[in-house]
Amino acid sequence: MTFSSFGKKFTRFSGITQLMSDLNEGLRTPGAIMLGGGNPAKIPEMQDYFTQLCADLLAEGKLTESICNYDGPQGKNTFLTALAEMLSEELGWPIEAKNIALTNGSQSAFFYLFNLFAGHQSDGQVKKVLFPLAPEYIGYADVGLEEDLLVSYKPTIELLPEGMFKYHVDFDHLHIGDDIGAICVSRPTNPTGNVLTDEEVMRLDAIAHQKGIPLIIDNAYGVPFPGIIFSQATPLWNLNTILCMSLSKLGLPGARCGIIIANEEIIQAMSNMNGIISLAPGSIGPALALEMIERGDLLRLSEQVIRPFYQQRVEQTLAIIRRYIPAERCLIHKPEGAIFLWLWFKDLPISSQTLYQRLKARGVLMVPGHYFFPGLEQEWPHTQQCMRMNYVPEPELIEKGIIVLAEEIERAHREG
Ligand code: PLP
Repeated sequence: MTFSSFGKKFTRFSGITQLMSDLNEGLRTPGAIMLGGGNPAKIPEMQDYFTQLCADLLAEGKLTESICNYDGPQGKNTFLTALAEMLSEELGWPIEAKNIALTNGSQSAFFYLFNLFAGHQSDGQVKKVLFPLAPEYIGYADVGLEEDLLVSYKPTIELLPEGMFKYHVDFDHLHIGDDIGAICVSRPTNPTGNVLTDEEVMRLDAIAHQKGIPLIIDNAYGVPFPGIIFSQATPLWNLNTILCMSLSKLGLPGARCGIIIANEEIIQAMSNMNGIISLAPGSIGPALALEMIERGDLLRLSEQVIRPFYQQRVEQTLAIIRRYIPAERCLIHKPEGAIFLWLWFKDLPISSQTLYQRLKARGVLMVPGHYFFPGLEQEWPHTQQCMRMNYVPEPELIEKGIIVLAEEIERAHREG
């Protein structure tokens, strides 16, 4: 059997595939402490809510109705209209149903969007997607149909009190040439929990307008839902912005429902791509979310249940880390949103990959930081000094994992 170039690119066992299968293996190892994956928390109140919601929809025949029919390629009409109304009321954006398309998870949206704006153009030019601030989401790394589709830039680092730090876009060194087809940021950022400031987003928006390219904002964790954001940040959308949202971090990753909000031309393109690639996006997520909007629960639960849950969990986790690991050994990116902590072991004598292997050997899974720099061309030792941990598990489990981490850090320093 010979695979095509597409086949070869999309079937190779990349670093991330290796890592994901490690994480999966960890899941099946009894006693393993999983601080690696991106699964959202099973918040008891949300689990109960979804169970009841499914039961109600089933009793009313709406669930059966949704699984027995294809929606249109743009996604379930009634949901698009309700969502557009809710977002324009809530945020004052001039959004209508024609500005929204659904995809099977927002991961598929990035596959569509990156390949829409980057790669070979009809005039022979090759365009790229630019990440103005790496570390960035690992899921972007391999979605290009062509090689070398991504380029990213190192941030500046602001040191903060209490062993914290924050990344900022290094506008002085950011170069956006004619070979850039789109700018993309996750806000809040996976893996760091960073939230780009309003000023940074406004500057990126201005650059994108000036260059005539879209600014893609990945809002998988942001406002107004699921609302996993702890700092003040104004959401941005205009006809040049492509805002990507998802039902996953609300607690519904299995519904595979991504939401793209953009100008009509882009929505039409997404809809056509959906038609060709998957006929239509799945209909269960939109059916559940429509009901949540109609009951006034989508935003209420985001604000009153989801955000407080994660806020409390992150504070507990920070306290646990500091009980065992002092700031001289480990700096922590200020957690402003998302479901991860980003740990920086500045003077660690071993790389984060070695630390990952040592932790894994002891049943603790975290993700080594070097995976999160897609498209970074410069050498930067910092990429080998960080780890991402998920703070979703129970605090008792997190504490066990942190004790092992603290021991491995001390061991590495002793062996120096
Ligand atoms: N964007 C970010 C920043 C993420 O962290 C994730 C998942 O972890 C996604 C997008 C993809 O989410 P989904 O495809 O489940 O909507």
